[in-house]
Amino acid sequence: MSDSKDIYVLPGDGIGAEVMAPAVAVMQAAAELSGCRLQVTEGLVGGVAIDATGEPLPEATLAAAQAADAVLLGGVGGPKWDDLPMTQRPEKGLLGLRQGLGLFANLRPALLFGPLAAASSLKPELVADLDILIIRELTGGIYFGEPRGVEQRDNERVGFNTLVYSESEIERIARVGFDLAQKRNRRLCSVDKANVLEVSQLWREVVNRVHSDYPDVELSHMYVDNAAMQLVREPKQFDVIVTGNMFGDILSDVAAMLTGSLGMLPSASLAASGVGLYEPVHGTAPDIAGRDLANPLATILSVAMMYRYSLGMAEAADRIEAAVASCLAEGYRTADIDDGNGRKRVGTRAMGELVLARL
Ligand code: NAD
Repeated sequence: MSDSKDIYVLPGDGIGAEVMAPAVAVMQAAAELSGCRLQVTEGLVGGVAIDATGEPLPEATLAAAQAADAVLLGGVGGPKWDDLPMTQRPEKGLLGLRQGLGLFANLRPALLFGPLAAASSLKPELVADLDILIIRELTGGIYFGEPRGVEQRDNERVGFNTLVYSESEIERIARVGFDLAQKRNRRLCSVDKANVLEVSQLWREVVNRVHSDYPDVELSHMYVDNAAMQLVREPKQFDVIVTGNMFGDILSDVAAMLTGSLGMLPSASLAASGVGLYEPVHGTAPDIAGRDLANPLATILSVAMMYRYSLGMAEAADRIEAAVASCLAEGYRTADIDDGNGRKRVGTRAMGELVLARL
């Protein structure tokens, strides 16, 4: 492969810049090894953007993100900006970016590298080498449905929200589920609450209809309450899970905790236009920022996802994931994943260099 890809990098606040530096170095080295030229541009979002321009999402940032092949983000927010009004906070930058890019599918892998199995709250044999992918619909459902509000009815206030999904929204996210299941172990579990909710009955009907285009994928359906139980009972039964916005919000956090550490979790959000936003699940960790303590692996693994899902370069993704696995197998640990059993403790920069050396 010899073409060029435009990557827009937004380090953001707190540990963002610290974890981004090694991730960009790994990204560039992996591109070189695959014969791909990367055009890397850096921009401002969140608190650093507020400080420089007064806006959490400057127009130039959104325009550059829309023009890129993929966007890599560190994180936004921190105590410095906590007292600003809601509409001017750093988080608005991230929400605006998600909206402006039309990101409707959130991909959260729960991947547990064997050497870290002891960090999980579940028994190691239940989670060692866990590799599941949760796909959450991101722009619809109860978080955005109308009508919504709090109003006076009779003698008391009543709060209400609406869980709404159209056929086209369901079909769009179902196709992402089937497409990604085809690239993995060909098993898709659709999670809903069809025993109680009409919207879930429609969800199930549409997912079944889309299934006829993917005869090579095994489809199952599960109620969300059972899915929550199964995720902690026998998580390895799953390959890909697809679900709506609120169910996905909750289940992806359950799955995240199966893997033990926030510092290890990557994520991706995809748009119909093809552009993808890649970011670690963790925030800006102000408590450890600027001290070379942050684990850069979640951001480095987000780069691997970027190669796999936006750039169509699975071999670069495999290479990065294998390099991370080697570092862990050799006993290198940042503070957050160090169980104290004689591991080799390293900081952010050193961990980045170790991954680079193993690419
Ligand atoms: P956090 O994820 O930043 O931190 C939670 C805990 O995990 C902290 O103890 C932190 O030190 C630790 N941690 C997080 N990432 C780590 C890493 N890579 N290596 C080692 N330890 C790590 O969540 P929080 O404390 O709730 O929020 C802090 C700030 O981050 C807030 O301003 C919040 O709004 C923001 N935030 C941003 C995003 C985002 O940009 N996507 C997500 C969550 C939180």
